[in-house]
Amino acid sequence: MLLSLSFSFLHHFLFSMENKYLNILSFCFSNTICGLLIVSWLARNIIYSNGLRTALAWRRKTRMKKNQDAENKMSLLDLPDLTLDCILEKLSPSELCAMSCVCSELRDRCVSDHLWKKHMEKKWGRLMGDAAVKEWKTHVATLMSCLRNSNPSSSRSNTQKWSLRVAANLKPFSWLKTNHGCYNRCSSSSSPIDSLMYWYSNLESGKFWFPAQVYNRENGHVGFMMSCYDAKVRYDYKTDTFQARYSAHGRRAAEENVTWQRLRPAMIETESRDLHVSDSLQGLRPGDHFEIQWRRTKEFPYGWWFGVVGHLQNCVGEENCRCISDENVVMEFRQFRTESPWKTTVLNRKEHRETGNEVGGFYGGVKKLCTEEEVSTWKRLWPEQVLD
Ligand SMILES: [Zn+2]
Repeated sequence: MLLSLSFSFLHHFLFSMENKYLNILSFCFSNTICGLLIVSWLARNIIYSNGLRTALAWRRKTRMKKNQDAENKMSLLDLPDLTLDCILEKLSPSELCAMSCVCSELRDRCVSDHLWKKHMEKKWGRLMGDAAVKEWKTHVATLMSCLRNSNPSSSRSNTQKWSLRVAANLKPFSWLKTNHGCYNRCSSSSSPIDSLMYWYSNLESGKFWFPAQVYNRENGHVGFMMSCYDAKVRYDYKTDTFQARYSAHGRRAAEENVTWQRLRPAMIETESRDLHVSDSLQGLRPGDHFEIQWRRTKEFPYGWWFGVVGHLQNCVGEENCRCISDENVVMEFRQFRTESPWKTTVLNRKEHRETGNEVGGFYGGVKKLCTEEEVSTWKRLWPEQVLD
């Protein structure tokens, strides 16, 4: 239709033109191909002015959006080192573990000791005394030694690589399974066995039994009230308590659900069977608080017992008290009844080593309690009833 209208209009116009052009133009417009070219030219103009313009605008918009998306998808690793470190320092231990599972580069960053130092100090600093630290170092040294022996050809420079492999095999992240559900993702992860992260994860998972002392052992058994005994303990993250194993002559006692408040770090300078050197006996005066080693027989390990310095029997009273200058000192254990054989004992300030007998037990070394915190910790454990 469009084609026929264009043709008739142009044909009428052509009658007024000179003959030399008439023949050429008539030929052109009477030719179908030439007509089609004109229609095509008109159509292209229409498309360009509307559809194509719209299409180009859409393409431009899409390209801009893609560029914007690319900018929004900037990786965490694209951040400056200092910024990334600041972010990682804000993460909790479990978040750091989860982050270490993302990729090898983040793992290398997340296992760094400087990120774990504050977490160790915050949660475990109080209990990781010298004895526990020594135990952990021995454990790590044993693992490293086993690795070297299992592969004598491994050089010193390979130690780090081997330690990584051991850590991976031991799967230190099992404690995350219940709390955070990322155990499966992390099971193939690893941390060097001499890293703080590995130590922390071994504590949290309860894999590391460490030396500590337990107040009122065996759930406040009447025979141990107001005492503190050496034990090997391990953490149970499900209950946020500890399991304890005690060493004793003739039997091995154990206990569960030991609370944080009932634990203190073990002493490295005095093993449970060693006699503590009493260096504070000379200065003890009535009212001072102390701890003294005591054991039932010489086959048993010592426990530390809480007591208060009393007055000598011949002391005339508070105002004229001369107990401080006497060669003997009265040690009172006020948790017991007056008639109890364990209520008091008297020690010689200069000569004391270990005194006692198979009936009343043996009293060992003495240490004076110097801080209010030590005393108040003991007083919180005071029994509800006086003991026999
Ligand atoms: Zn006195």
